[in-house]
Amino acid sequence: MKNVAVIGAGTMGNGIAHVFAQFGYQVNLIDVSEAALERALVTIGKNLDRQVAKGGITEADKTQTLNNLRTYSVMAEGVKGVDLVVEAATENIDLKLKIFKELDSLTSPEVILATNTSSISITKIASVTTRPEKVIGMHFMNPVPVMKLVEIIRGYSTSDEVTQIIMETSRSLSKVPVEVNDYPGFVANRILMPMINEAIYTLFEGVAGVEEIDTVMKLGMAHPMGPLQLADFIGLDVCLAILEVLHDGFGNPKYAPCPLLVNMVTAGKKGVKSGEGFYSWTHGTKDLVVASNFKK
Ligand code: NAD
Repeated sequence: MKNVAVIGAGTMGNGIAHVFAQFGYQVNLIDVSEAALERALVTIGKNLDRQVAKGGITEADKTQTLNNLRTYSVMAEGVKGVDLVVEAATENIDLKLKIFKELDSLTSPEVILATNTSSISITKIASVTTRPEKVIGMHFMNPVPVMKLVEIIRGYSTSDEVTQIIMETSRSLSKVPVEVNDYPGFVANRILMPMINEAIYTLFEGVAGVEEIDTVMKLGMAHPMGPLQLADFIGLDVCLAILEVLHDGFGNPKYAPCPLLVNMVTAGKKGVKSGEGFYSWTHGTKDLVVASNFKK
């Protein structure tokens, strides 16, 4: 495994390309948007600078990492000759099915096709290819260069051999892979999202305010940040979409998204990316507590 294509140069794609390039892989970063590719290179450069400043890597490592990266806006060109594809495009099932169908015809049959999806069924994505045994989930955490975990998700047909190759590949990036099976939310989001949803219900039912809820979970449970702040970082629209996948997938009312979350997303309050969620965010920095327009 030497040559890797990463599809999607957004939040996750640039981080995934960064770590593969840093650990010596030749990386083709592909996006339909030239602007996204340019932004990704700037972000990778800044993140490498931070690693150099902290003494984690040398200037020479930074230069080598950047030399290992190429960008492409046409998928057919970017996937030529690669051994592995990691797809990190927008979380949309129709888009992912289209991309995997194309990848299946563009790459030779031995190429492993991985997806970074947070919530879409790996088995479903694999079903549109002629190589379901070579389709696997490789769920990196945000920010990718920092977070150690990769959740490795085996679809219904993913082979043992492909799982082992991807576990090894993750270790070669200095990550810790954990193998899980393909059920709604996998493990990370199946446990995280009900906690976030419960925090929103706790606010909705007037048990406590935003800062109080986050402080209880931060100081009481030693979480690095409270669940409402974390929801703002993840994106409230993303949280809602994952809860819907859990709710639909298991048919269990315990996953029903809190009406406050639904209202906030409908009103365009998506957290950090829209400037307001449970907190107000100016230039990405937490400002005053919002959600105050919500009165019980
Ligand atoms: P993003 O919106 O930041 O980036 C998505 C990128 O995909 C955009 O640059 C877009 O132009 C590109 N894209 C869209 N269609 C494309 C196509 N046909 N070909 C190539 N590129 C295309 O999204 P993100 O947050 O980086 O999420 C990407 C994936 O990672 C999703 O599946 C998401 O569920 C998953 N994920 C996200 C996070 C997170 O914290 N953001 C964490 C884990 C997993």
